Amino acid sequence: MTSVQPHQRAKALKPNSPRPAKALCSECGLCDTHYIHYVKDACAFLNQQIAPLEEQTHGRSRNLENQDDWYFGVSQQMMAARKTEPIAGAQWTGIVSSIAIEMLESGMVEGVVCVQNTTDDRFQPQPVIARNREEILAARVNKPTLSPNLSILEQVEQSGMKRLLAIGVGCQIQALRAVEQKLGLEKLYVLGTPCVDNVTRAGLQKFLETTSRSPDTVVHYEFMQDFRVHFRHEDGSTETVPFFGLKTNQLKDVFAPSCMSCFDYVNSLADLVVGYMGAPFGWQWIVVRNDRGQEMLDLVQDQIETQPVMSQGDRRNAVQQSIPAYDKGVTLPMWAAKLMGVVIEKIGPKGLEYARFSIDSHFTRNYLFVKRNYPEKLDAHVPDYAKRIVDQYKLPDA
Ligand code: FAD
Ligand code: SF4
Repeated sequence: MTSVQPHQRAKALKPNSPRPAKALCSECGLCDTHYIHYVKDACAFLNQQIAPLEEQTHGRSRNLENQDDWYFGVSQQMMAARKTEPIAGAQWTGIVSSIAIEMLESGMVEGVVCVQNTTDDRFQPQPVIARNREEILAARVNKPTLSPNLSILEQVEQSGMKRLLAIGVGCQIQALRAVEQKLGLEKLYVLGTPCVDNVTRAGLQKFLETTSRSPDTVVHYEFMQDFRVHFRHEDGSTETVPFFGLKTNQLKDVFAPSCMSCFDYVNSLADLVVGYMGAPFGWQWIVVRNDRGQEMLDLVQDQIETQPVMSQGDRRNAVQQSIPAYDKGVTLPMWAAKLMGVVIEKIGPKGLEYARFSIDSHFTRNYLFVKRNYPEKLDAHVPDYAKRIVDQYKLPDA
């Protein structure tokens, strides 16, 4: 149970006004509310405090002697899962939406913080407090853009709600955990997704225009475990582009600076994490971090099939080779990218090793970004587990 402490207020910032984290702001929404009073402590980009918040949330922080903890955070169990009857139009099979529906309909919570889209733009995020199944389903599928989920915190307070489920990505959840005890809730459940390489709405447009054959008809996309970006279009057709064929030189500046300096890919502070990257192709990856997370997963046991997590291959050479290639913005011709995609899909890392590949590639890139652009922040901003991960590789000179 979250204990309730009286909280202080400050004046929320107006839209588009400068944010305390400046260029590193991920637009998590906290500063759109009077909880901005706590921003210096709560903002993931001003005050990295994953270890103490893990302790507060899970009863312990990562054990740095255990490599699985470095990579995947505090956990009770991990598995691969998929819905036996997937939700049409969900990002994967809809495990997130299904858990939210069960929690609401069983009375475990009174509302669900989730992200719908605006009426005129399928990818423009619109955070809401959903109070019925239809409103949760209207939030299914990723809005692959920075989303101000915490902007609804004042509405939560005004509603008088006492039991809440919040769905969100790592930076949103870090700020939420930091103010959790000020929210007046009796119980907060957090269902997290991993998150990496997010973009502003304008950045998303550039990504789609640079990468897809038909940017205006994309309704869904994902970087998948077969080393390809999969696009789904309005007419139901699919398109795949190999990672190694991405126009890295044009895309280098597309990712938000917040995401280039993030080391919380796996959403360390959620009770339950639902992603895909540690699971075989087509399956979702589940990390139960604590008893609340298990309680949430138990609600959908009869809707999912599961299998144990597996790990195959060795990522390290591939990661080491990709570091200077990314740094120099090397782009392969499409025939070579496709060939490389086929080879790496056959012999490359799978399951948890694929997840490690992705974490290593992003953490080494992000470490260099912070070292070059914010050297004064490097030591405090990079958590110890991430330093250990980065230390496994030789990085180019800053
Ligand atoms: P659905 O049932 O379709 O529900 C999706 C939920 O996501 C909705 O409840 C909605 O509220 C929420 N949501 C949508 N957009 C946002 C947003 N911008 N911010 C916060 N919440 C949002 N998994 C990985 O394993 N590796 C990754 O690199 C990875 N990157 C991701 C990046 C982003 C921006 C997001 C939002 C998710 C990412 N995920 C990643 C998670 C993965 O893509 C799926 O969202 C997850 O597996 C759940 O699928 P589902 O079918 O159960 O979700
Ligand atoms: Fe405020 Fe969130 Fe931006 Fe930090 S990331 S400055 S808390 S809106």
